[in-house]
Amino acid sequence: MCGIVGYLGKKNVSEVLLNGLTTLEYRGYDSSGVALNNGSELQIIKSVGRVKDLKEKIQNEKLIDASYGIAHTRWATNGGVSDENAHPHNVGRVTLVHNGIIENANMLREKLENEGYTFKSETDTEVIAALIDKELKDSDVINAITKATKQLTGSFALVIMIDGEENKLYATRKDSPFIIGLGDDETVMASDIPAILDYTNKYMLLDTYEVAVLTDKTADVYDENGKKVDKVVKETNYLKEEAGKNGYPHYMLKEMMEEPTVVENLINYYKDKLNDLDLSEYEEIHIIGCGSAMYAGMIGKSLFEKFANIPTIVEVASEYRYEKVLYTRKTLVILISQSGETADTIAAMNKVKEREDVDTLAIVNAEYSTIANECDNVLFIKAGPEIAVATTKAYILQALVLTLLARETAYKKGLIKEDEYQDIIKQYELLPKQIRGVLEKRDLYKNLAKEIYKNEDVFFIGRGIDYSMSMEGSLKMKEISYIHSETFQAGELKHGTISLIDEGTPVLAIITDKKLKDKTYANVEEVAARGAKVIIVTTEDIDVYKELKIVVPTVSEFIQSILVVPSLQLLAYEIAVLRGCDIDKPKNLAKSVTVE
Ligand code: GLU
Repeated sequence: MCGIVGYLGKKNVSEVLLNGLTTLEYRGYDSSGVALNNGSELQIIKSVGRVKDLKEKIQNEKLIDASYGIAHTRWATNGGVSDENAHPHNVGRVTLVHNGIIENANMLREKLENEGYTFKSETDTEVIAALIDKELKDSDVINAITKATKQLTGSFALVIMIDGEENKLYATRKDSPFIIGLGDDETVMASDIPAILDYTNKYMLLDTYEVAVLTDKTADVYDENGKKVDKVVKETNYLKEEAGKNGYPHYMLKEMMEEPTVVENLINYYKDKLNDLDLSEYEEIHIIGCGSAMYAGMIGKSLFEKFANIPTIVEVASEYRYEKVLYTRKTLVILISQSGETADTIAAMNKVKEREDVDTLAIVNAEYSTIANECDNVLFIKAGPEIAVATTKAYILQALVLTLLARETAYKKGLIKEDEYQDIIKQYELLPKQIRGVLEKRDLYKNLAKEIYKNEDVFFIGRGIDYSMSMEGSLKMKEISYIHSETFQAGELKHGTISLIDEGTPVLAIITDKKLKDKTYANVEEVAARGAKVIIVTTEDIDVYKELKIVVPTVSEFIQSILVVPSLQLLAYEIAVLRGCDIDKPKNLAKSVTVE
């Protein structure tokens, strides 16, 4: 969510900053801005809309010859989308960009106003700038930053310029991602790793409240007591090319098409790495995530309960963090987040960590993230960069890791026999090829998309694990095509929902569970009788008689969802194409939701 870039060095500063913002565009934003500095002059340019709008504005200005600068793409939390509210913000000696949200901003603003500060924007960010400016009156810079940030509740990554501190940038963070890239005679910092890779592969990370003092040649870091810290400089082998579109019109399509490869890689990667992670002793599992990560968790729940006999609760992180959670038996909490920085999931993790008797296991993509660092155990999904805001391959891999955990736990507990287990393992090996087969049926999805794209309401139905799959299918539809889409447990229709079915309303019925197929099919007949246009999503061995169908190979129940959901993702994609939507950057959404 939102992107920050900072640069000190000899290259053209505005070009480096804009390049970084462009790389970070996938994170979602509504306005952007830069601040350029040459030591004596400061120039701020901001614009609502896309980074290309900012670029145009910059091209029409006479720019100072800058030696350092900061830039930002904003995803508004406090104050509307406007040039005034866009970052950078300047108060007194301080100019800064901010990612995150300050929860006590209103109280602080009032206090500062009483002390004579006036504000030009409605943002929480400008309050931070004023606070640091105030603290600077009787403290050195590092101290002033720490004193100010200690008064903030909420999350922040900040890059700060101070008048009088020539060719220096200051940075600090709490609960928002931030990375400092260390090049030869240049320093570049950003919210995510791809934005530094054009300049360096060496980087360092800041811990909470640490303050970095950055020049083009040095990066000194101080802890919250002002003591200098020895930081580890890491190297990444992440390649920026991997984040390109590879000839596909959209990242989302490219990322779906990568599913066979990343699934194969992950199955091989975890072939014998899960042995050390024994979940068989747990009497209860809680799976926590937001959006698709939570829906992946629902797949895990079905499998843990059905095959490993472990009662499992799935909960959205934004609820879990505030709920009274009763840990009555030996519990494992699994936290799922693509970015590893999802604010609500971090808060849920912190709540769990207060309990010494409860273990945490992270399932994340970003290896240098907060959740990966702070859980007792971590399983990486190794998706590589996922740029499209709507997740596809990362969801599939999250679900896949859960299927592996459920499978191994069931086996360890003796709940699946050796020959059955060996057969299931073989089925996993065939899975990548089968996913490829599902993804290759582009024409089928295109034709089905034509049946649906003009509707404003779509319903999904399913039972059990089919319901879990349909939750993700429905979310994809909403996210990228903006069609109102809802999922219902098929048996619930009669209790209200069926009144929404009109002549021609599309209903997608997921039917893969053989025990429940007749039950769900009966519900299909009910909606068909009321005029619904039914599309069945099912497996080869289930006979259901409807003309509109997506049929995928029948595989072990552990991995059936990994074949069904890609078809739903592609269908949503083709519908969004027909509707002319901004597929990789859907409106109002952000990739990594680092605010509550
Ligand atoms: N809370 C800040 C604002 O609304 C920053 C939001 C962001 O992370 O982009 O301006």
